[in-house]
Amino acid sequence: MTELPRLEVSNLTRSFGGRVVVNDVSLTVMPGQVTCLLGPSGCGKSTTLRLIAGVDRPDAGEVRMDGALMAGGSTMVPPEARGTGLIFQDFALFPHLSVSDNVAFGLKGTRTEKRLRVHELLEKVGLARYVDTFPHELSGGEQQRVALARALAPRPKIMLMDEPFSGLDNRLRDGIRDETLAILKEEGTAVLLVTHEPEEAMRMADEIALMRGGRIVQRGAPYNIYNAPADREAAAFFSDIN
Ligand code: ADP
Ligand code: MG
Repeated sequence: MTELPRLEVSNLTRSFGGRVVVNDVSLTVMPGQVTCLLGPSGCGKSTTLRLIAGVDRPDAGEVRMDGALMAGGSTMVPPEARGTGLIFQDFALFPHLSVSDNVAFGLKGTRTEKRLRVHELLEKVGLARYVDTFPHELSGGEQQRVALARALAPRPKIMLMDEPFSGLDNRLRDGIRDETLAILKEEGTAVLLVTHEPEEAMRMADEIALMRGGRIVQRGAPYNIYNAPADREAAAFFSDIN
């Protein structure tokens, strides 16, 4: 028996004012795996992610989670019922809530259940001593880890991440990338990571979907795409990795 994809996007299309921004996009994320949606700025990555998250509606195509239709035809499952976690470049923590209240926000269950889950996650991201701290007292890297803990708290089936590392200091970035990936793997959460940096995709992805001008131009394992790019533009895009 073949395994069902956690996320399956088929022929997704979205236009704004007559301009096709997401053009017949198909991609999959398998359970426990990381797919990177990689492409230059403006190629339609964030729009694709918004369609998957359910904050925007496709003109055509489908979004399925574990085989169940989330968007397509007349179906439009609301974002909070899709089992997706979201992390963006600006971590968007609630400034008026403590670290533990940020992580607990949106959690269901008894007070004790919530407290245990928050504690477990803060331990995991190495911030257990900061429960009562407020976001502005933390560094960028620490805030990113709180955002990760918060997004993981309700146990999403898949984490959707839109350029989550691009706001971070260069010196910290590699460490935080690896740490984030390790935590997501440990939780067993599948990941769709949007990035414009080939090096980041090579480092983090099990599979890359290469996007350009609204279309997916190539899909495959990082090694295969790097070694056999679909065309000259794809080759050029990867050429500044060393
Ligand atoms: P990326 O994330 O790859 O940088 P985006 O998905 O943000 O690209 O944007 C792709 C294109 O779609 C851009 O030209 C952007 O201006 C356009 N676009 C995105 N959202 C809208 C919108 N709501 N209305 C009009 N144009 C949009
Ligand atoms: Mg974007």
